[in-house]
Amino acid sequence: MLYRDVAEFYEKVEATTKRLEITALIVDMLGRADCSEIANVVHMTHGKLFPDFHPEKIGMAEKMALRTLAAVSRTGLEKVEELYRERGDIGIVGEEMLGRASGSSLGGAELTVNSVHATLTQITAESGQGSQEAKVNLLAGLLASSTPVEAKYILRIVVGKMRIGVAAMTLVEALAVRFASKADKDAVERAFNITSDLGTVARTLCEEGLEGLSRLRLKVNVPVRSMLAERLPGIGQILEKMGGRAAFDYKYDGLRMQAHINDGEVRLFSRQLEELTEQFPEVASAVASVFRGRSGIVEGECVPVDTNTGELLPFQVVSRRRGRKHGVTAAMEEFPVTLFLFDLLLYDGADYTGIPFTERRRKLESVIDTGAGERVRTSTMIITDSEKEAEEFFTQSLESGCEGIVAKSVAQESVYQAGARGWLWIKYKKDYKAEMIDTVDLVIVGALAGRGRRSGTYGALLMATYNKDRDVFETVTKLGTGFDDETLAALPRMLKPHLLGAKDPSVESRADADFWFRPALVLEVLGAEITHSPVHTCCWNEVRKDAGLAIRFPRFTGKFREDRGPYDATTSKEILEMYRMQLKKSS
Ligand code: ATP
Repeated sequence: MLYRDVAEFYEKVEATTKRLEITALIVDMLGRADCSEIANVVHMTHGKLFPDFHPEKIGMAEKMALRTLAAVSRTGLEKVEELYRERGDIGIVGEEMLGRASGSSLGGAELTVNSVHATLTQITAESGQGSQEAKVNLLAGLLASSTPVEAKYILRIVVGKMRIGVAAMTLVEALAVRFASKADKDAVERAFNITSDLGTVARTLCEEGLEGLSRLRLKVNVPVRSMLAERLPGIGQILEKMGGRAAFDYKYDGLRMQAHINDGEVRLFSRQLEELTEQFPEVASAVASVFRGRSGIVEGECVPVDTNTGELLPFQVVSRRRGRKHGVTAAMEEFPVTLFLFDLLLYDGADYTGIPFTERRRKLESVIDTGAGERVRTSTMIITDSEKEAEEFFTQSLESGCEGIVAKSVAQESVYQAGARGWLWIKYKKDYKAEMIDTVDLVIVGALAGRGRRSGTYGALLMATYNKDRDVFETVTKLGTGFDDETLAALPRMLKPHLLGAKDPSVESRADADFWFRPALVLEVLGAEITHSPVHTCCWNEVRKDAGLAIRFPRFTGKFREDRGPYDATTSKEILEMYRMQLKKSS
């Protein structure tokens, strides 16, 4: 398949916001790819070359990509940079520059999906001495053979900002329609949730149809998309929802970890499917020593502990260990952690995800030798039908340094729902006792300049939720309180790498800002309530015509959610649910 054809589809996708049209376009596009290229088409549509858990990331610095573009289009770097500041999108700048240079490609063979993928893979793989130059040369070659429209998308992929508004679930639906029927969407989604790789799902469907998909299995060292929890504002409601009886687990405030064990070798993955083994080697070896079996996948929360008192410490302490490549040994001693396991997904080849929770739990307890060390434990859990007992357990969890409880269904159908936020797990946190029933994780997309005491830094940050269905960020509040002086002073430096000349195309805002940022940094925010807003675009027109939803009196809790990318921020749909819950509570 020619890359030009794919790029033309992207153009059409970008020209519409209608989900049905987008899906139809993607179905059409997938229909033109053959089985040897369909995985590449799927990954590149998401702006990637490989599945999320693959260690290699393209991530070429924007500056370097701009330099390459300047050379290929024979334009001064300053001019290219100026245009970039104006447009805020490297793809559009590339399209314009190459368009001016020739109107079509500068020559060379026509690009195919697989040839573009292969060159981008080469760019990614270059490392060590001289690699920067090699990367620039490879990209220059690719751009020289590109039409302006092809260059637009190649450049966006290269800098990690594809954003054409095709969410993973749109691809799931399109794959179902293309290779089976819309009614088979659940089967495709299930395959995605256990392989975490839409490329593999697409290739399997193309080569073997739905039959092949049903043969895909959980595999050690292929992270499974995490099961997530819904929320309710009271324990009584939780028990009612769960049929009068439920398991209650401590909700540890740490870092979710999936441990994959294979003959004594352990690899750890985060909820974002990144590998964490190098950063937490002592956890990996502790899992290896407590696990009674040859292979498996277990899941838990990794929490910092005070070794003198045995107390749990705030999450920030683990976040200081993340991303550290050097000094891992020092970090291990300075910030010791314990992994509290709460689920088992695979054991010696047997898939446990379709088995009820209580049986998975029983198996987990029987395969973890908790007497073998302090670094790995099973979570504290009770099963009860008594609201009073559950309330006491909640208080006890807070006293132990946890942030609340996660209730888990013990019904026959309480399977492990990979990748889903459903009612089989319901979280209940101490913040629910405040007016707004949960903290939210919002992305910084803009800022207002500070005045007076705040001159030189920001007066307020423009914060957004992620609209997963449309793959855009929607503003929901302006955040100015809860920052200490030190954090305030540090903000411009922290945000500098994400500063843009104009609003990012993936941000929908009716509010104005003095600075615009690429959605990247995520902060935890607690607000007083959710109200209608004529300014904020979160859930626009969904509750009231010509209005969105906004968070009133937001306060930064002090927690930078370094464990969250912009796509893991609270979704607009969650805000809508919280708004409805708030209405229910006050009525
Ligand atoms: P929050 O911001 O409230 O931590 P979240 O966005 O991280 O929520 P949720 O699905 O809302 O994710 O809550 C479940 C999360 O809680 C899990 O992803 C996990 O990291 C954490 N957690 C802590 N203890 C448990 C437990 N015992 N069982 C399940 N999840 C737990």
